[in-house]
Amino acid sequence: MEHIVIIGNGISGVTLARHIRKLSDKKITIISAESEYFFSRTALMYVFMGHMTFEHTQPYEHWFWKKNRIDLLKAYVDAIDTDSKTLQLSEGKSLAYDKLIIATGSKPNKFGWPGQDLDGVMGMYHKQDLENLEKYAPNNTICKRAVIVGGGLIGIELAEMLVSRDIPVTFLVRESSFWNGVLPEGESAMINRHILSHHIDLRLSTNLKAIKADENGKVKSVIIEETGEEISCNVVGLTAGVSPNIDFLKSSKIETGKGVKVNRFLETNIADVYAIGDCAEQHEAIGNRRPIEAVWYTGRMMGETLAQTICGNRIQYKPGHWFNSAKFLDIEYQTYGWVHGKKGKPDYEAHFHWKHQDDTKCVTIAYHKDTNVFLGINTFGIRMRHEFFDTVLTEKWNVNKVMTHLSAANFDPEFYKLHEKDIIEKYNRDTGNNLRLSKIKWRSIFA
Ligand SMILES: Cc1cc2nc3c(=O)[nH]c(=O)nc-3n(C[C@H](O)[C@H](O)[C@H](O)COP(=O)(O)OP(=O)(O)OC[C@H]3O[C@@H](n4cnc5c(N)ncnc54)[C@H](O)[C@@H]3O)c2cc1C
Repeated sequence: MEHIVIIGNGISGVTLARHIRKLSDKKITIISAESEYFFSRTALMYVFMGHMTFEHTQPYEHWFWKKNRIDLLKAYVDAIDTDSKTLQLSEGKSLAYDKLIIATGSKPNKFGWPGQDLDGVMGMYHKQDLENLEKYAPNNTICKRAVIVGGGLIGIELAEMLVSRDIPVTFLVRESSFWNGVLPEGESAMINRHILSHHIDLRLSTNLKAIKADENGKVKSVIIEETGEEISCNVVGLTAGVSPNIDFLKSSKIETGKGVKVNRFLETNIADVYAIGDCAEQHEAIGNRRPIEAVWYTGRMMGETLAQTICGNRIQYKPGHWFNSAKFLDIEYQTYGWVHGKKGKPDYEAHFHWKHQDDTKCVTIAYHKDTNVFLGINTFGIRMRHEFFDTVLTEKWNVNKVMTHLSAANFDPEFYKLHEKDIIEKYNRDTGNNLRLSKIKWRSIFA
């Protein structure tokens, strides 16, 4: 029987295994060094914040794997020999495969800072990071201050986690405004204010120079690059982005760039070896997507797609329109299509921006300044419908049409209906239009 071996038990590897099982009787083994069972990485923060236990992050009961004949192996893969189709495991063991899937996810970036491997310094990615956090930052008696290095989605989650235990946080952000490589100026500025309102010591345009140790080899402070200031702390969280977790492939014949290089079928340069999830890098970006996309739902989509190919129905990975969601402390964020911040904003991209006076809700809409075609939307504190924007992007709606249909886009019309009027009035003032909201319900659009 053909043996399918998957390295990595995250969302991509596990989705693949489940779908192969639905489609076939093949022998399946999933290997992971991190945890025995699949858990939801995105829920790790809620374990620390006491909203759920670690067990609650595991969506499948332990019997699920045996019942579905998916073998789980807790081990680290040191090397892959693609000529003999064998994996070298830690502790000298080996394992043969017929088809191999690399689904090894990401690892937190470290940029060679002095002291980056001291006790009390951690990323916020793996289950072990959570365990370290429990050890070094259980409360504000043991951890008098934490310093977070790197202002992105994971950094702000870590800040929220620490603040939930009343631990003072200093947040070092290299950029001049929070996540402004991605977020347009108005949104980024609103999030700066929101972070400060949670009593987080946000330091913009600030880089880490070094982490210093006490006499026991534990973190005692950080030094700031720009000013030489020394900030005392007991924990340092490194959240300056992630990169594909592929160092163990260096000795193999599998082609890598930043990630494992794959084609549209998620195949590598070596027959019977594939890569999916955070660690996969497309040779060329698909449409206006990025070659590496370290997000949950793309890992799941790649797993579903590759299961078809592995089971004889060779199909391409087609991710569709970009979307994502996250949370900045109390503010929910959604994005559909592309709304660029400072980085990579094309000349033709124009923005309309609306912000509520309470400074926790805003919307930015991107459109083509010559054709008026809608390009994307960011929403903060207001939920919009995914299906609506998927349709709008596929059908290339004019931005004016999108504006008049905002009520249909709104996920929570009762709660937010006042804002639509306000938004369209601001749009009319900014653009000289005289548009009115249509009363069409979102269901009629898809009828
Ligand atoms: C704190 C946090 C919050 C997040 N929030 C969101 C969110 O809100 N929305 C969103 O879309 N995305 C979010 N993400 C990103 C999302 O979690 C990832 O994109 C996704 O989990 C990646 O899944 P994966 O299957 O590719 O890899 P992973 O989940 O990383 O799984 C890979 C597994 O392989 C193991 N492994 C690696 N190398 C080896 C080896 N050599 N031998 C054995 N095992 C190995 C790893 O230890 C790991 O267990 C978040 C990530 C983090 C860290």
